[in-house]
Formats: sequence, C-alpha cells, structure tokens
Amino acid sequence: MSKVNRQEILDILKGYDKEDITIATLGSHSSLHMFQGAKAEGFKTAVVCEKGREVPYKRFNVVDEYIMVDKFSDIVNEDVQQQLRDMNSIVFPHGSFVAYAGLDNVENIFNVPMFGNRDILRWEAERDLERKLMMESGIRIPKKIKDSADIEGTSMVKFPGARGGRGYFVANSTEEYDEKIDTMLKRNWIEDEDIKEAHIEEYVLGCNYCIHYFFSGLKDEVELMGIDSRYESTIDGLVRVPAKDQLDIGAAPSYVITGNHPVVMRESLLPQVFDIGDRITETAKDMVPPGFNGPFCMQTLVNDDLEVVVFEMSARSDGGTNTFMNGSAYSYLYHGEPLSMGRRMALEIKNGIKEDRLEEIIT
Ligand code: ADP
Repeated sequence: MSKVNRQEILDILKGYDKEDITIATLGSHSSLHMFQGAKAEGFKTAVVCEKGREVPYKRFNVVDEYIMVDKFSDIVNEDVQQQLRDMNSIVFPHGSFVAYAGLDNVENIFNVPMFGNRDILRWEAERDLERKLMMESGIRIPKKIKDSADIEGTSMVKFPGARGGRGYFVANSTEEYDEKIDTMLKRNWIEDEDIKEAHIEEYVLGCNYCIHYFFSGLKDEVELMGIDSRYESTIDGLVRVPAKDQLDIGAAPSYVITGNHPVVMRESLLPQVFDIGDRITETAKDMVPPGFNGPFCMQTLVNDDLEVVVFEMSARSDGGTNTFMNGSAYSYLYHGEPLSMGRRMALEIKNGIKEDRLEEIIT
C-alpha cells in the first residue's frame, strides 16, 4: 500500500485551476507522444529533464516548460515536486519515470497527482505479484517449472529484475541447465545468490507481439491501441549470422531492447487479444484497486497453435507505444484519425475534467 496519502493528492487536485492543467513527465522513454498528445488536446506541457537530454524536446518543439535537473532521479526532490504542483501538473508515468524516480519513492514520497494507479507499478516489478495477477485472470502464461531437476522440454531460465535478458538462457535438460549455470557464473553474468532465485519456465517458440492497451476508467472499457515487436541486441543480430558461424562465435544471446517495429496480428487472433485485456483489467480492479488505469502492455509470444502467451507486462506506458506516435492501425479504428497513446491519455484527462470525474482516474 502506498504511503502517499490519497486525500492529500485529492486536495492538491482540488486546488488546481482545471482550466490551466499542465501535463508533465520525465524527459525519456515514451514522453514525446505524451507531450505532443497533451498539446494537441489543449494542455500545457512540462518536462523534467536531465541537463544534456533536452535536444529532442526543443527540436520537436513539444514542451512549454523545462524543469532542468542534474540527474533524472531529482524528479522526487521536494523543490521539483513543488514546481510541478505550482504548474497544476498531472504526471504521466512511463518506464523511465518509474526506474529513475524509484518505485518506493513513487509510492511513498511523490506527492504530485499522477494519471494511472501508482500501486500497480509494483505488480509489474515483482515477478511473484505479476504471476499472481496473471494466474488469477486465467490468461495463458508460460508454464512454470518448479525445480531444475524437473526440466523436460525446452525451458527458459530467467533471473530477478529486468536486466535485458542478460544471463537468461535456454536449457533442454537438467544437465544442460547445470552446465550453463557454470558458464554464466564463470562469465560473471550471474552471481551465486542469483541461482536460488532462478525462475524456470516453458520456452514459448513463437513470434513476439507486445500489445498496448488503454483502460478507460471513465468508460470502464479496454481499448486496443497498438502492437509492436521488439528489436533486441544481440538476439536479432545473431539470427543474421549463419548457423555454422553462430557456433564459432559462441555468443550467448542477450535481449537488450534497441528499438521496436509496429505490427498487426492476424484478425482471427483479436478475440484473444480483447479477452486478455478484459480479464486482466477485471482481476486487477479487485487485487490492486482501482486496477489498470490508462496505458498498459502485455508482452506475448504467439505459437503455431495460435495461442497468445503472455510472458511479461508493463503496468504503465510501455516504450513500444513509440511505434504509433502518429496512430496505429487499431487506434485509427476508434476515431478515424491518428491517435497516439499520449493523446489518448490527454483525452481521458480532458474528459475527466469535463465530466468532473478527475478524482476517479488520478492517484
Ligand atoms: P526483461 O524483463 O529482463 O527484459 P523479459 O522477461 O522481457 O526480460 O524477457 C526478455 C526476452 O526473452 C523477451 O523479449 C523474449 O524474447 C524472451 N522470452 C521471455 N520469456 C520467454 C519464454 N517463456 N519463452 C521464449 N522466450 C521468452
């Protein structure tokens, strides 16, 4: 439970001039379309930006106010928070915001109204909580293998924390698992204490689709906003090397995200896509009230049985939303014009103000 006092946030919000709201976020990750979308919906925008990182915001001209800081993590400093509140700011969270501000700080000391649910961020960060939410929702996830002695088919071995898949590996048997653990230790890719934390799951052979949803608290409905697939180093470079040479290189693949491609799914998969969105948002309402609120992403692999298998989630705007700054095939269907995730978020705030229901979608 977050220690940021809900009543205090609502009081701050009450004091805001609703005709003069600023949409603010950290200058990184998926902030460009948030700023562009906020301006398109008539809001002022403010970036909290690390010195030296301001170029994109100036060149794309999407920001009205610059709060320059020595380091991104200064966003939680009291003077920065005060500047944000003075501007009637509503903060849009994204992956870098959470990483730099720090989850504990967002939960405990960041007293600025945020769009979304600050309590659900921990549910994507901790694998056990994430799994609990997914299991409870009844969506298809990779089967968990409790013990390395039980490895039968191809399995994926992961270690705690998002580390770009560094040190993750595939094993087909217990012997192979033991061998690879030894190699990883020798390379210092993992440490002894990581081993007991190793998470082993079914390896899903399939294609990657990261599905970007928007849950509208005002409409009580999930929207499909866009889909991307990941462009990861070194795995995507490695597949360009002929198999024989791959063995010579001896490279262990890593999955460091470097970019994203926009994609669409075959239409017959879309019922599954909406079902996943509906199930996870319904379950989250009970488990982490008010549940998902605004953007979230389910990272999936689709196998040749045409099962959409969810292996990871983001409980806020995911970086893959950058593939549809000018709208996606799906977001176009709702409005008949290009709609980015950032603009959809701003639209929700605008409707919240219009319907006098802002307090329902702010935490
Ligand atoms: P991180 O959060 O550390 O980046 P992920 O859980 O997103 O790690 O996994 C990194 C990559 O590993 C994914 O992009 C995906 O390509 C691959 N991957 C993850 N889980 C599985 C799985 N169960 N089966 C096959 N590939 C997987």
